[in-house]
Amino acid sequence: MPTQYLPCVLALLLGALAMATSWAEEKKPDWIAREKIRAGWIYHGDGKDKLHFFKKHGLNALITHAGKPEVFDEWAKEARRAGMHLIGVLGFSFDAEKAGMRRCVFGNGYESVVACPTDERFWQERMIEPTVKLAREGMSAEKEISGILIDFELYANSEKGGQIYYTDACYCDACFGGFLKHKNLGDAARPPLGERKKWLKDKGVDAEYHPFLQKQVRALAAKMREAVEAVRK
Ligand SMILES: [Zn+2]
Repeated sequence: MPTQYLPCVLALLLGALAMATSWAEEKKPDWIAREKIRAGWIYHGDGKDKLHFFKKHGLNALITHAGKPEVFDEWAKEARRAGMHLIGVLGFSFDAEKAGMRRCVFGNGYESVVACPTDERFWQERMIEPTVKLAREGMSAEKEISGILIDFELYANSEKGGQIYYTDACYCDACFGGFLKHKNLGDAARPPLGERKKWLKDKGVDAEYHPFLQKQVRALAAKMREAVEAVRK
């Protein structure tokens, strides 16, 4: 469920904030404690008009997509000029099938185009590497990049009739097989994709399944935060 991922999102956001250049001399960025985050989230327009508009109306931060470096770069430069905090969004809505990554399987057996949320390659290539790159760019005196926010809304999936969040996921071979191993349930009788959810229920272990996966997602998110913190050191 989205709320279950929230601690990860917040942890990452705060972790990423540690990279901000404005506070390189400080141990911890304390602008959130001091000013609170008063942010607007927008994907349209450009840095020049929106950053100044938001500032004029009492906001201190702007959240926008960080997926296109050439565009985000301009936002970051303008944020510095405007004296605004800029938070970049990296999304899980991505065609993992096209990229040859492990795909997410939902409870009804639907194998989606989006990535399995525990796929290490996805986290490395789509989350950790772009974030570290942004953290390095944020060290530049001419740019303001105050943090990263992970968007777990799966537009690439919902556009094809699937669900928009990782609720009821993931039942791919890696996730499901990892749980079987963890519980010593054996692997020989692995049921077809659409029957895995019911199988877990029949075995009386369904309540343990998602916490097991969430722990892995949290570990991957922590790895991302540590990679960002390492840039600042
Ligand atoms: Zn999976």
